Amino acid sequence: MTPSRPSAAEPRPAPGSGQGDCRRVGVFGGTFDPPHVGHIVVAREVVEAVQLDRLLWVPAAVPPHKAGRSITRGRVRRRLVAAAIEDDPRFGLCDLELKRGGTSYTVDTLRDIRARHPGWSLSLIMGSDLFAGFRRWKEPEVIMELAELVVICRPGTDVPGDAERMGVRTVRVTPVDVSSSLVRDRVGRNLAVIDMVAPAVLAIIEEEGLYGATTAAPGRGPADTIREK
Ligand code: ATP
Repeated sequence: MTPSRPSAAEPRPAPGSGQGDCRRVGVFGGTFDPPHVGHIVVAREVVEAVQLDRLLWVPAAVPPHKAGRSITRGRVRRRLVAAAIEDDPRFGLCDLELKRGGTSYTVDTLRDIRARHPGWSLSLIMGSDLFAGFRRWKEPEVIMELAELVVICRPGTDVPGDAERMGVRTVRVTPVDVSSSLVRDRVGRNLAVIDMVAPAVLAIIEEEGLYGATTAAPGRGPADTIREK
């Protein structure tokens, strides 16, 4: 259940650096309920565009903007993220927010990471949909002191006009029109999601019976095929 890779609190060498430290670190927060191919594409392409040594995936305990919504328990989402990232050594799982519990504020997480790793240069990765409400986050000005903001242009959304004025970096990634909501919806209707999530993620969805899956193996069939029991 627990991934073998180190947590955020345990720095490890940047791949290929030959050194024992890791300087440019991306922080990719989300609900990841479940992690999907859109997240993977963002993660891979942002690592390359921003030249990150490492990208930390940070599942939120209770995301402030999704309060009141039913969310898969943290223990399971931790497994889902670990499964989604297991093949890429540049990715790490950071469970600080799950361990802290309660509403997950990015500023608290960045402060925590900074306190543990004062030498790291942090980049906070977020979709343009989230950036649209960034000014209403807890202590946005402190967030911008602690980390460079990297806004990902999501399909169907434009980068907000004030991004450039605020000195925010924007990265256009290959559009992948998949969301966790779509995956949950399709699993709940017993439609295929095999192209949307990693096989290891799908295995956990099946094993845990997530999202109202009604068969033992939702989503394994060809696209748009409703499986029969
Ligand atoms: P939901 O559908 O439940 O709202 P989601 O698919 O947006 O979930 P989150 O875990 O909330 O997934 O997203 C984490 C981060 O990844 C956010 O910054 C979000 O904007 C970004 N993101 C999610 N899906 C995509 C995608 N297809 N392309 C680009 N960015 C994405």
